[in-house]
Amino acid sequence: MSNPPLTLMLVHAHPDDEAITTGGIMLKYAEEGARVVLVTCTRGELGDIQDPGYVPPKPGMTMEEIRMTEMSDALGVLKVSAFHCMDYRDSGMAGNPGNDDPKSFHQADMTEASNRLAAIIRKERPQVVITYDETGIYYHPDHVKAHQITQKAFFDAGKPDLLLEDGKPAWQPARLYHIAIPMARIRRYNQEGTDPASRPPSSIVGTPEEKITTRIDIEKYLDRKFEAIYSHKSQIGGNHRFRNLTLEQRKEMFGYEHFVCAYGCIPLMEGGKEKDIFAGLRI
Ligand SMILES: [Zn+2]
Repeated sequence: MSNPPLTLMLVHAHPDDEAITTGGIMLKYAEEGARVVLVTCTRGELGDIQDPGYVPPKPGMTMEEIRMTEMSDALGVLKVSAFHCMDYRDSGMAGNPGNDDPKSFHQADMTEASNRLAAIIRKERPQVVITYDETGIYYHPDHVKAHQITQKAFFDAGKPDLLLEDGKPAWQPARLYHIAIPMARIRRYNQEGTDPASRPPSSIVGTPEEKITTRIDIEKYLDRKFEAIYSHKSQIGGNHRFRNLTLEQRKEMFGYEHFVCAYGCIPLMEGGKEKDIFAGLRI
C-alpha cells in the first residue's frame, strides 16, 4: 500500500481564525505539495460587523450565510484541499447569551464533539494537527472548546477499539501543535497606532519566547495570507487595522507563524526553534 499523502489538519473555531493565525503555513505547505485540511467548529454567526459601511454580497443574507460565503473565498486563496464545518452554533464571547444556546459549541457534549472530530481525523489521515492551546488565544469559549475536543480526538482517533459511525480504521496523527502568539508581538502591536478600537482584544494571551518551539517563515506568502484575511470582509472591514499596516509592520508582525509542539516533538537544541512542522515525517 502506498504511503498516505503528507496532510496538515487545522482545527479552528470560526471563519477568519484560519487566515489570521495560520494562513501562511496553510499556503506554504499546500504549495509544497501537502494536503491542507481545515476544520471549523462553527459558522461564526455571532461575529460583529465592525465596519458601519459594510454591505453584504446580497441583500437579506444572514450572518451565517455571509460568513460561509467569505469562508469559501478564503478557502480558494489558501488552497485548502478539504473543508469540514462541524456546524455547531457560535457561542459568542464569554458571558454572551449565545453561550447558553443548546446548539452552541460551548454546550456541545465533549465526547460527541470529539468523536465527530476523531472521525474526520480518520477520514483525512493527517500526520500533523494544529489547534489552539488551553487559553484559546483569548479565552473565547469556542476556541477553548476547539482545543479541548482536539486534544481528545487526536488520541481517540488512534484507538482501534473506539468504533465511530463511518467505520474508518483508526489513525494516529504523529504530531500536535498549539498556535502561539509571541508576547513580544502583542506588546509591539499594542504600541502601534493610536486607535484603541482597532486593537486586538486585550485579553489575548501571549506565549513567552522560551516556550515557543516552532517558528515558520511565511514572508513569501504574506500577500496571499492578507488576501485570505480580507476575504472575511464582514469582520475585517475597510477601516480595520489589519488593512492599514505598512509593509514593514506586516513583515514584523506577521512574517512568521509560531507554534508550541504539544506531542510527537523533535528534541531541540537549547534555545533553538524548529523551522518545519513536517520535519522527520516525510517518507
Ligand atoms: Zn474565533
